[in-house]
This record gives sequence, structure tokens and C-alpha cells, in this order.
Amino acid sequence: MSINANQTKWDSVKRYKLKKMLNELSSISGHGTELVTVYIPPRRPIYDVISQLRNEAGTASNIKSDLTRTHVQDALSRTIEHLKLFKEVSENGLVVFCGAIPTGKGFGTEKIELYSVIPPKPVQINLYRCDDHFWTDHLVDMMKDDKVIGILAIDTQETGLGILTGDRWEVIDSLTSGVAGKHRQGGQSARRFERLRDNELNEYYHRVADHAQKVFIDQFNVKGIIVGGPGPTKENFLKEEYLDYRLQNHVISTLDTSYSGDEGVREIIDKIQEQGVMTEYRLMEEKKIMKKFMSEVYSGKGLGIYGIFDTIKSLQQGFVDTIIVTDNITTLKVDIKCNRCGNIQERFIEKHSIPSVRQELLSIQCPVCKAVDSEISERDIVDYLEELAMMTGTKLEVISGKTEEGAQLASLGKIGAVLRFRPTART
Ligand SMILES: [Zn+2]
Repeated sequence: MSINANQTKWDSVKRYKLKKMLNELSSISGHGTELVTVYIPPRRPIYDVISQLRNEAGTASNIKSDLTRTHVQDALSRTIEHLKLFKEVSENGLVVFCGAIPTGKGFGTEKIELYSVIPPKPVQINLYRCDDHFWTDHLVDMMKDDKVIGILAIDTQETGLGILTGDRWEVIDSLTSGVAGKHRQGGQSARRFERLRDNELNEYYHRVADHAQKVFIDQFNVKGIIVGGPGPTKENFLKEEYLDYRLQNHVISTLDTSYSGDEGVREIIDKIQEQGVMTEYRLMEEKKIMKKFMSEVYSGKGLGIYGIFDTIKSLQQGFVDTIIVTDNITTLKVDIKCNRCGNIQERFIEKHSIPSVRQELLSIQCPVCKAVDSEISERDIVDYLEELAMMTGTKLEVISGKTEEGAQLASLGKIGAVLRFRPTART
């Protein structure tokens, strides 16, 4: 299994699939110390990794248990074969999990499986482990958030500009105003002082806006910004709309802080984590998606549909603009393939009820050749939806099933869609 979660294509679907794979991987435990994990950072030469793994294979020949030794050596040679497919590591590096996976049929029946992931962010560690479990934690951490958020910590004296990606943040730029404090020197006319100060502030805010555009749009292409600082400056700055509209329209939150500048950026980062601002923001996005969907459902124009059958039918016909599914959906696509003529019948069945209907499915007669001789295969519904969505240029959004909106969609069958246009009704 292989997942390419490259940043540019990193969306809710890739996230869902990688999350699901990581869940499976983290629940696997080997019989011995025999599960191989390799994290390869972007610039590490492949041949270098391969030669390290060859050494490890040599060392593994000392393993006492026959079964464990075979498993480790098989896993290592499978990994080496896989790495040979790459001329060089992708810009985000590569993560490979490989090992003997229990099949549930007992000791000695394990099967060597390989899982290859191009992660959503650059791999920052160089890691080889052979253990009784896969080392998934680093990938789980990388999944936490992929969006780049701009941080602006402003008051009348200084401004700090930082960026936040997942758990990582840094100060990128800072500038000072050179504007005098609120209190004038003796002998200066109060009105003249105020006017000069206003002009200086105005010039400073324009400067801040220029820097913000360079850093947040040109350099990092942020998804949104969070503005903080002491006192009312941040509100005034936003109210007067100094910022480029692309930033002005994407202010996620404003926060009161004690400091501005570099120190202010740090303080905002702390507050974001304390107050769960980013989780809030993601939920807001999901709310927007669901709001549009529900308004279509209620409008009666027929553009909001739900339930697995209607949704998939419309998707297959290419009518769907956006398809929405909750991350706790457990429906599988089941293909009943005739062994005689190859005809395939599809069904959508809840995962938990498959064992009880398996026999029934196997006894279904082929509608083409009338034989009763078929085999069945199962597929995750989101995989299938993604494939259909790709062929028809449809957006696919996987949303949390735990929110109010998610529960709303769950009550409609965990799946719904907004159509581009309404299929013409048959008369
Ligand atoms: Zn047939």
C-alpha cells in the first residue's frame, strides 16, 4: 500500500486515508522484534539508505529465532527492493513500514507487507527501527495540521510576523514604528503633535501591510492570519483595512496579548494552543461546507442529496460538485464478480454485517450468464469515492463525524452531495 500525501495535494481525503492506515499500523504487533520502520529525510541519498539496510540484514543473521530472523531479513530485502524504485527521495522524504503481519491464522502464517508513505511535510528525522511494533508516532505528529497560518503581533511601537504550521512556528520578520509615545514633549502644540503622530502611524501601518503581503502571501501563501497585540491597535489596524484583501478577509481570530513584536508572536502561539484556535478554525471550515449542503437540501431545488445510493448514482453520472462524507463511515463497496463471465455486481454494505451476508452474496446468480459461481471483494468506500470523484472532477470532503454538523450528516447516512445541476427527471 502506498500513499502520496504530498503537500500540494494534501486534502481531507489523503488525510483520512493516511490516518486510517496509521491506525491499522499502530495496532499491529509482531511476534518478535521484526517490524521494520524507516524514515528518510528529503536530501538523504537512496543508495545510502540501501547500504544501511544491507548492513542491518547482515546483523540480522545473528538472530536466534529462525522465524524472527527470516521475517526480519525478508522485511529488509522487500524494503530494499522498494527503495530501488526511487531515483531520489521526494521533497518531503519517504517513510516505509515493512514486516511480517499476522494473518490471524496462527504462528508462522504471517505475510510480509510493505507500506510506503510520502508524508505531508518534510521528514525531519533519520530513523531505522526494527521493533515489535511500527514507529508511527512521527507520522501521526506530521498529520496534526498542514495549513500555514500567519501570525501578526502589532502595536504602535513594533510588529512581529510569524508563521505557524502544525506544531512548528517561527518569527519571520519584525519592524519598529519609530512613532513617538502618546505623550508630547513640553512646548509642542497638542494638535500639531497629534497630526504628526497620526501621519507617522499611518505610514507605519502601510509598512506593516507591505511586509505582511510579502511574508504571508508571496513567501508562505497562508490560509489565514491571527492578529494579536496589546490594546486597541490591532482592531484599529484591521478596521482601517490596511491589509491586502486576501489577508483582510482571512483573519481567523484576534487575540489580546501583553507584548507585540517577536515576543508577541510567541505569546500568540501560546494562546492559540491554550484556546484551541486552530481546532476551532477547522471546525468552522467544516461548518461552512455543511451549511451549504443543508441549505441545498432544504431549498427543495433538488441539488442537495444524501444517502449512499443516490449519492453514488449521481456521482457515477457526473452530476456532483461536492461530495461530503463523515470520517466514521463504515460502509464498504462489495463487488460480486462472476468467475465464469467476469460480470461484476456492486453492493454497498456496512462492514459489520458483511460476515452475516457473505454466504448470501456468494449464492447470487450472475445476471449475464446465470451461473452461481462468484467471488467477492471489499473496498473502503472513501477509496472508491475518491476514484469516482477524480474521474468526474468532483470535490470530496471528509469531515469529522463527532461534531454537530457531522452528526447531522450521520443521520442522513453519513454521506451527501451538492449537485452541479439537477438530473433531468424522467417522464
Ligand atoms: Zn456470469
